Formats: sequence, C-alpha cells, structure tokens
Amino acid sequence: MTSTLSAKVTGPVLAPYDEGYADEVSAFNLAATHTPQLVVGATSAADVAAAVRYAGDHGLHVSVQSTGHGAESSITSGLLITTKRLDRLTVDPATRTATIGAGQQWGAVVAAAAEHGLLPIAGAASTVGVVGLVTGGGLGPLARSHGVASDYVESFTVVTGAGEIVTASHTDHPDLFWALRGGKWGLGIVTEMVVRLVPLTELYAGTLFFDAADIEPALRAWVSYTESASDQVSTSAAIIRMPPFEAIPEALRGRTLLALRFAYPGAVDEGARLAAPLREAAPVYLDLLGELPAREIAKIHNDPAEPAASQYYGMLLDPIDQDFVGVLLSFFGPTVESPFVVAELRHLGGAAAVDVSGGSAVAGREGSFLLAMIGVRPDLFEKVLPDAAFDVREAVARWARADGNPNFMGLPMTAERLATMWTEGANTRLGEVRWRYDPDAVFTKPA
Ligand SMILES: Cc1cc2nc3c(=O)[nH]c(=O)nc-3n(C[C@H](O)[C@H](O)[C@H](O)COP(=O)(O)OP(=O)(O)OC[C@H]3O[C@@H](n4cnc5c(N)ncnc54)[C@H](O)[C@@H]3O)c2cc1C
Repeated sequence: MTSTLSAKVTGPVLAPYDEGYADEVSAFNLAATHTPQLVVGATSAADVAAAVRYAGDHGLHVSVQSTGHGAESSITSGLLITTKRLDRLTVDPATRTATIGAGQQWGAVVAAAAEHGLLPIAGAASTVGVVGLVTGGGLGPLARSHGVASDYVESFTVVTGAGEIVTASHTDHPDLFWALRGGKWGLGIVTEMVVRLVPLTELYAGTLFFDAADIEPALRAWVSYTESASDQVSTSAAIIRMPPFEAIPEALRGRTLLALRFAYPGAVDEGARLAAPLREAAPVYLDLLGELPAREIAKIHNDPAEPAASQYYGMLLDPIDQDFVGVLLSFFGPTVESPFVVAELRHLGGAAAVDVSGGSAVAGREGSFLLAMIGVRPDLFEKVLPDAAFDVREAVARWARADGNPNFMGLPMTAERLATMWTEGANTRLGEVRWRYDPDAVFTKPA
C-alpha cells in the first residue's frame, strides 16, 4: 500500500509496522496516541496534494498534525499528514510580512521577526503551531490591543479536498480565505501562509503572583479592574496548583498561586501606571511584571514547552462579577481539593471583538472572558475531570455563552457543542465553503 504513495511523494510514508512511525505520529499532548493507517511526512505542497488525492482514491479520511498541541483525542484511522518538514520562514522588513511554512511554531516566527524590530500577533505559547492557531482565530497576550492572530493573515496556500493547490486571500478564493480565518476544521490543508507583522520591540508585561491567602482579594480586584480596563491592556488570571517539579522555580514549586498576567504594548511609565491597581490589590508574592523585550513575549504565560499529557475544558463567558468569583473559588480556591492544575480566565474584548474588514469566521468575538480548566493526571482523564468540568459548567451557567472559540473549546468535542460554536449564519456559510472545497468530505472534523 505504502509503495504506491511513496512513489508520488518525497517525504516518508509510514504504516504502523514501519520504523519511525511512532515518532512521526507522536503529539505534544501525550494523552493522544495516534494510530492512523498511514502517515505521510509532507515536504512540500505537492506532497500534501499527492497524499490527499491518494486518500480520496482509497476512501481514507485525512487528518493533519503539526505539533499535536490540539490533540484532544487520538486519530485511529485514515491518513495523517504531518507538516513539521514544511519549515520555510522568511521575513520581509519592507512589507512587514512573514512567509511561514505550516510546520513552523510561533516561537521561531517571533525570533525571526524580532531581528527586524517586528512582532507577529500570535498566541501565548511559543511551541504552538502557526496554522493550528490561526485557523481557530488565535487569542494571545496582546488580544485586546491587537486583535486575534488570523486578523493578520494576508494569504494561505491550501490543498483542497480534491488535491488541488490554491491560494486563498482577499482576491483569490475569498470564501475560503474568510473560512480559514477562524473556521478551523474541514477546509483544506494549509502548507504556507503570509502574515503581517507589527513594529513592536518593547512591552510592559509579565506576571504578578499572589500567594494562596491573597488569591481571593487579588482575583476580586482583577475582576473589578476588567470592568473599565483600557483596551490597550490585555490581562488574564490563573489559579495554578504548581507541581512539586524541580523544573519549576523554587519560589513557586508546590504552591497554589494566582498568576495575574498583564501586557501593555507601550511605554514603561504608562504600563506601570495602568498596572498599579493590580499591584495594590493584595501583597504581591512575586513581581515578574516590568519592561519585557517583545521577543520574550512567551514569558508572559510561561506555558510548558515539553510534551506532557493534559486535558483541557473551555468555555466562553459574558461579563463576570463578584458572584462569579465566589462560585469559581468554591471549585478552585486554595483550600479546595481540585483535580485541575490550572483554572484560567482571559479577559477578551477590545480589538479582539472587532472583525476584520471583509469579515472572517472567527467565533466568539462577543465573549467577554474565556474560562479554561486544565488537568494533567491521566488517571483522572476518564471520569474525574469530565465530571468536575461538568459541575463547573452547571455552576457558572448564568455567565456562560452558547458560542465559543474552537481553539479553547477543549472537551467534550461533541457535535452539539460544535454546532453552537459559530452563529447560525456563520455555520451555514462554513458548511457551504467546506462542501465547495471538500465535496467528498475527505478531511476529518471532530465528532
Ligand atoms: C500549551 C498551549 C497553549 C495554547 N495557547 C493558545 C493561545 O494562547 N491562543 C490560542 O488561540 N490557542 C492556544 N492554544 C490552542 C491551540 O491554538 C490549538 O490547540 C491549535 O489547534 C494548536 O495547533 P497545532 O498546530 O500546534 O496543533 P496540532 O495538534 O498539530 O493541530 C491542531 C489542529 O489544527 C489544525 N491544523 C494544524 N495544522 C494545519 C494545517 N497545516 N492545515 C489545516 N489545519 C491545520 C487541524 O485542525 C489540527 O487538527 C494553546 C494550546 C496549548 C496546548
């Protein structure tokens, strides 16, 4: 089976019994063990096109993986295309754009852009894949001042369900361009994209940590702060049960802390003035907020860079209040036994709420906050975490929104939740675009 396809592609074509298969299918999220019938390590758009055509001819569904950060569940059949060899990365300072292969991760783009005093608008973590993030919109540490990552895409090179290589931009296949910016699944395999960069070298950014006893006043003050926060300020608040691992700085190790993340893309004095109410909210246990080179933007969230098993549960919220804080603390407060290691709230709005001219399929722009709950103990994945997430969802139902953001949807990935993620109009339009570019439904979608 593999030899016919191997003759058509340059990259490796591997079946489960082949050496290298396990490495090729491995995901950042170790909770997933992918076992597709075939995996193709694409080295070019032509490889992707050949693999998609082969899959279509042989009745195989096609999945795609870059890093496996989004591997919420295991791929157990079909043909998987891995993109890590699509590693083109060029920055053009004259046009302030970057051309990025689908195998790149945001950290590399940040580093390359920084050489020219530029910054991509991306997510919080440097190891997330470039395409996986933007096809879900992409909410990052500068979401309120700069909007979502997909707002900055100029064009995509895409392989369609028929195995054709097309460009999607404002002028070419604008329907596909609309859909790829936020529509996430079943639209094609992006092999490369061009994004606009912003001139930004310094931020006033970082994290204020509050110790267990001060979590409640600090969190309450943050919620009040968000009610009138400047659109130039992006913040998030995470209650973190720091594991007792050596890799974690001693001051943080094994403690339950509140991390208030803050990012202001401007002068230090103004940043410090804007952050003052948060610094005064309660005694700060560890102050890591200050002038930050834009190239170190990943330090704001300090997400883990090494693969690990995790489960993620997310939901979009309307404006929250002090009652919400009480409910949240009853599940995640420092004196409560929680099966989750992180409960995070991201403040949305500002530029993230404003769609691009011409529109995009980014879902959940009207949400005010995102709530994310993350667990890392595999023995809790089957029952304890799903049940606990369900209980939280029930308890915060009066602040919950029906729509959501696909990058933060997490589990359970059911057809019902998927159907409400976008507005009815956007869902219908996405269905039409999917049908146009993948009429035989070659590309897999959740549920
Ligand atoms: C630690 C961590 C931090 C995160 N931080 C943020 C954040 O700040 N903001 C945010 O918005 N999201 C964030 N996410 C969510 C993340 O954006 C999604 O999980 C995203 O899908 C990951 O993309 P990936 O390519 O790295 O992962 P993968 O698992 O490789 O891909 C996930 C999905 O992306 C799509 N995809 C990937 N490559 C292609 C391609 N070439 N063509 C078409 N579709 C493709 C596919 O649907 C694929 O199933 C975070 C996730 C983690 C684990």
